[in-house]
Amino acid sequence: MLAGTASLMNRQVSSWVRQGGLLGTLAVLLPSTALGWSNHPLCTWQAVAVMPGMAERVVTAETLGSFLGDVSDRLPAALEGEEIWARAHLPFYAPRPDALRFGGASAVGKDAASLRAGFVHAIRVNEGMMLDLYVQRLPGVGVPAERVLPWSSASVLESLEDTEAGSLERVSEGDVLRVADVVATATNEPDLGLDIGLWADSGSAQGGRYGYGAQPFGNPHLSYGTQAPFHMGFYHESGLVYRAAGYLQHTYPEARIHLFMTLSRFAFAQGHPYWGWRFAGWAIHYVQDLGQPYHARVLPGVGALTMVGIGALDMLGIHGPQVAAVTRVTNRHIVLENYQYRRMSAAYRAHDMDDPLLAALRDTSDDGSLERLGASSVREIVSAQSAAVADELDAQLVRIFPDADVVVADAADLDMNSVSRRAPAAEQASMTRLVADRMRQVGRDTRAVIRVLDPEGVGR
Ligand SMILES: [Zn+2]
Repeated sequence: MLAGTASLMNRQVSSWVRQGGLLGTLAVLLPSTALGWSNHPLCTWQAVAVMPGMAERVVTAETLGSFLGDVSDRLPAALEGEEIWARAHLPFYAPRPDALRFGGASAVGKDAASLRAGFVHAIRVNEGMMLDLYVQRLPGVGVPAERVLPWSSASVLESLEDTEAGSLERVSEGDVLRVADVVATATNEPDLGLDIGLWADSGSAQGGRYGYGAQPFGNPHLSYGTQAPFHMGFYHESGLVYRAAGYLQHTYPEARIHLFMTLSRFAFAQGHPYWGWRFAGWAIHYVQDLGQPYHARVLPGVGALTMVGIGALDMLGIHGPQVAAVTRVTNRHIVLENYQYRRMSAAYRAHDMDDPLLAALRDTSDDGSLERLGASSVREIVSAQSAAVADELDAQLVRIFPDADVVVADAADLDMNSVSRRAPAAEQASMTRLVADRMRQVGRDTRAVIRVLDPEGVGR
């Protein structure tokens, strides 16, 4: 590098670092389409199936309006305690504006729609989420047409590639449901839109009121990209990366997990087990996401110096390396999810419960390493373990999918499970082992949340 260029770069870099702009473009483009794991219930059903007694347990469905109507005088104190905890323990937490506080005594006697609106504002989730009653059915299990839930009752998105609209079955208050189905169904709900459009620059009315500020990374112009900072947690990057791009620390999965675990405990304690399980499923979603290496590392396979270097070059007008890095990580992220979803849904349809990914979710041999999820576990165990294997998995992905960086991986008809079968047997085995390791962790972490929340303590 020429001396003049180096000194220009140094000046530029220090100015961007001050502005927090370095790596900005990179991060903007990062997670525009990715979900974490695809179709979380496919993971959750297997994870809970091995918890003693869980297969037989049932719970009675209750609408959100009934739940809130009963607890509206006690819920404010629980939410207030949660807000105090978040402000004290989460360094980058944007406080909830006082105006959004749940109504307390003034909420008593309100109609279901007003209670729902007050609640979604108080917990700062997408106000278009109807939170109706339904359960997702297993792949291959048909739902009678008259019982299929209207998609808009489940999601604010137009559609979701990995979730068939016809797999959601409408449920009525008072229906008796399997606990496993309730908690598994709820583990998909955060990907149905809970966290979409919540930022000040999301162009939504709620975003102007919620107090989260501008979106720290992810593309504010892509509705799906707006949920990224809630579903990703970059706790294990180098100090150099944080100095160059501090906003990568402005993520919310820990806040979401703690909030929804608090709501779950509250619902159980107040005698509303349906909502206890549903909130538990919401919390589990974010824990499962952090077991996905592309949700726990910004650019797997790329060293910190290189990351900062390509960010600096981009700011100097040399965009090629950064565009290439962003395209690469986005494609690989999607390829991994496509492989996991296609392989697992095919196994479900074929009743091949011995598929290594499904079997790994039921494997409790490592449960002793995280029996019960604590407040620090998300950072110190869950995401630490997925971040640690990110480089290895990233390298394996490219060996088994040599076209991973050029395919349009989110094309609806693409099946990376089928593509993987063309690779040499040793590469297939290696890929299976690495993804099964992730699933073993997802299974362990799912059970670790349930053991904390389950008031009957079954499976401890
Ligand atoms: Zn997610």
